[in-house]
Parts: sequence; C-alpha cells; structure tokens
Amino acid sequence: MRLIDTHVHVNFPALKGEIESVRERWLQAGVERLVHSCVSPGEFDEILGLSVQFPELYCAVGLHPLEADRQWTEGLGTQIAQMAASSNRVVAIGETGLDFYKSESRRQQLESLEAHMEIAHRLDLPMIVHCRDAAPEMAEALRRFQSRVSTPLRGVMHCWGGTPEETDWFLDLGFYISFSGTVTFKNASTIRDSARMVPADRLLVETDCPFLAPVPHRGKRNEPAFVLQVARHLAEAREESLDLLAETTFTNAVSLFGLPDTAGPIAS
Ligand SMILES: [Zn+2]
Ligand SMILES: [Zn+2]
Repeated sequence: MRLIDTHVHVNFPALKGEIESVRERWLQAGVERLVHSCVSPGEFDEILGLSVQFPELYCAVGLHPLEADRQWTEGLGTQIAQMAASSNRVVAIGETGLDFYKSESRRQQLESLEAHMEIAHRLDLPMIVHCRDAAPEMAEALRRFQSRVSTPLRGVMHCWGGTPEETDWFLDLGFYISFSGTVTFKNASTIRDSARMVPADRLLVETDCPFLAPVPHRGKRNEPAFVLQVARHLAEAREESLDLLAETTFTNAVSLFGLPDTAGPIAS
C-alpha cells in the first residue's frame, strides 16, 4: 500500500528538530510522496531545501490567509510567482484561501487570494486552498475567476470541513477535496457525510501536521505517518477497503500535482 500526504508543515520546529526519525516513520507507513504547504514566502528557502534533501517531498509557495493582513502586498505576489517558477520542486501555489473564523482582514485576504489565483493560472499550477467559515465567499471568488478564463483553475480544498452542500459547490468547480485528521473525530459526522459524497477520482488525504492529529493520537503532535489513520477512517466512512482508498488517493494526488508515479519511494 502506498500513500501521499498532500499537506504537511514539517519545517515547523515541532517536527524539523527530529526530521530524520519523522521521515523513517513516514516511509514505514507507506507515505511515498508528500506535498509541503507554505504559510509565508519567508519559509520558502527552508521548504525548498527540505524538498531537495528528501526526494519524495515536493513543495508549494504562497501566503496563508491569516497572514494576509500583516504581509500581503502586490510586491509579495511578484515574489511568490518568481519563487514558484524558480524550481521544478514546486508543484502548487498555496496555501491561500479565506479564513473568516476570527479574522477581520477580509479585504486583504480577498486581494491575496485573487493574486494567487492569477499566479496559479498563469503558471498552470494547482492551488492549495484553505477555507474556514468562508465557503460561500470562496466559491464565489472561484466562480468569478473561472468565468473569465478559458482553462479552468485546478486545486484542492485542504483540511476540508464543509457540509455536503458546500462540498458540492467545489466539486462543481472541478476541485479536489482533501480530508485530514478531523474526519476521525467523534463529533465530525458532517465531515464524514461530505466524505461519503466525494467521487473517488476527486478524493485526497493529508495530515496538515503538526496540527490536528487523527484518532488515536488526537491532541498530540501530528506527523506524516499518521496519514494512514486518516485513510483508514476515511475508507471506513466510505465503506471501502483501505487498499482501494490508498491507491485511489495516491493516483489522484499524482494527477493533480503532476508527481512521478513510479513504484516505491523515490531514490535519493
Ligand atoms: Zn490550512
Ligand atoms: Zn496548512
């Protein structure tokens, strides 16, 4: 069985300090590819360095919506585009998106999101979308963008926690839906309802580590090896075998991010 963790932050101190043993465990768990998300372009050199060090780790570049009020400028958008074009280790733009949970910075978030959509479209890279308490606004922004371009934007709704109705909006927009440890939580029946309705060819798994560890590690530090638990719970919710779910989500991630599809971990 092989897996792809489509959303990690292993550069965070909680994981980077022990990166060699963390990597041993992801390889043991069958995690053969990973996509490293980026919260701020200031992290990019470090993340790119990790992706050069570990051949199975690919990276993204972008500005998290909760950083938009402090950091967003048009100049930063230019930098993000340059970073994205600078290396073939970069397989996505993000994470970008909208997070209205506690944030007052809607205007800056929307400006940053617009620029990320432009960059992703221009460079033909998929977007990693973070969306919290903002599904209607997010769907609206994507629809507006899609209506004026000839080749549709591609991307993934990461750490998805939306209702089945909201899930439908993003499936209609052609996006993939990625489930994280939250799908394993006891009170997450809405997320499992959404997980059941995603067509097999649009489904992805992720840890979003070091946050949101899946059951039975809930509340502890999360790491890429735990994507196996996410996949197991997701397969259970969908009444599928783990093997089938692992293989489908592997193939989907390969196709969305343009990753190599060779068997086994990529040799250093
Ligand atoms: Zn996120
Ligand atoms: Zn993230």
